Amino acid sequence: MVKLAEWRGKEIFRSYGVPLPKGTVVRSADEAVSAAAQGAVPLPCVVKAQVLSGGRGKGGAVRFAATVEELRAAASAILGLDFKGEKVRELLLEEKLPIARELYVSITLDRSARLPVLMVSASGGVEIESVADTAILRQWVHPFAGLTNFEKRAAAKTLGLTGPAARSLDGLLDKLWRLFLNEDAELVEVNPLALVGEGVLALDAKVIIEDDASFRHPQYAEVRDDRTELEEIAREKEIAFVQLDGNIGVIANGAGLTMATLDVLQQFGGRPGVFLDLGGTDDPKKVTEAFRLMARARPAAVFLNIFGGVTRCDTVATGLVEAMRDMPSTERFPLVARIRGNNEEEGIAILREAGVTSMRDLKESAQAAIAAAGGRA
Ligand code: GDP
Ligand code: MN
Repeated sequence: MVKLAEWRGKEIFRSYGVPLPKGTVVRSADEAVSAAAQGAVPLPCVVKAQVLSGGRGKGGAVRFAATVEELRAAASAILGLDFKGEKVRELLLEEKLPIARELYVSITLDRSARLPVLMVSASGGVEIESVADTAILRQWVHPFAGLTNFEKRAAAKTLGLTGPAARSLDGLLDKLWRLFLNEDAELVEVNPLALVGEGVLALDAKVIIEDDASFRHPQYAEVRDDRTELEEIAREKEIAFVQLDGNIGVIANGAGLTMATLDVLQQFGGRPGVFLDLGGTDDPKKVTEAFRLMARARPAAVFLNIFGGVTRCDTVATGLVEAMRDMPSTERFPLVARIRGNNEEEGIAILREAGVTSMRDLKESAQAAIAAAGGRA
């Protein structure tokens, strides 16, 4: 999942001809002031933090400035803010438009229907989760037929748009649809889509690109705003590694067992913090690298839950012992291990020699990991 910042999403919008307010990106208050002086953005303008979390409007990360002084003040106030754990380093400055109405439009993939779905609502500007279900029109789009006139008319009706405004919506929907398809997007969301005069334009842009299609779009591979430093390193080493909020590190193999391990920890009141999927490997070196990476994430405890198949238990044990041998004491963590399956006895013996006991029962081992991490959340 490649989540794009608003301004990057809007650059793509622009390349598809989606109408946008005039604007520019800046990285300091001085740059903001000179952007206004040079006419890159007219005043009054909107000053928007470029972070990936939503709710900026409510959270004080979107402000208005009518004068150069206000612009400097707003830019200084927002830059450097910690917004939901993200430091604000970039601002999007945009002309402030007289908005008649704020609408909602998105196209996303409905995996259970196996079809893209177009969603529109006349209640834009607030998070879609807080809009009543009955106020949202959902239309599933046949990928070969594309958006039909019928679907676009239904959208206009839901949004209460007629005449030139409906035609403006029609053009915008076609462009968003092409973008969704051609860029292999998981989500294209415009909230709010603003009605200004007799036309609609995108005030916000949320674009998520499907990771599995990134080989078709090398330009997005550079955009890694949404990955932590360790996740980035893991990716280069082709290790599936995700950082969450909790304090227990999970090392498992295969997506199914990894997810089930997270669920079991959660069920007993633990908080998984990082998970690492060893996948299928017969290379102890890869296991060693994975453990070193885990250590750098500083988990309070690590729960190793392996079902030996392609990845044999002794391969994992060997890699683990190797990693522990030259791990600096500051990076050591309490370890609870449960390895079952292919070459189980060999693996358990290798671990035992290194002073690690392998537990058999999933429930008991999960609870031991939670206790080792300092107890229930
Ligand atoms: P989000 O809260 O993170 O989704 O940020 P948005 O980009 O959606 O902005 C939040 C709100 O700021 C919008 O719902 C609008 O009410 C307001 N806003 C954003 N751009 C403009 C603009 O150009 N003109 C006006 N009047 N309001 C704007
Ligand atoms: Mn928004």
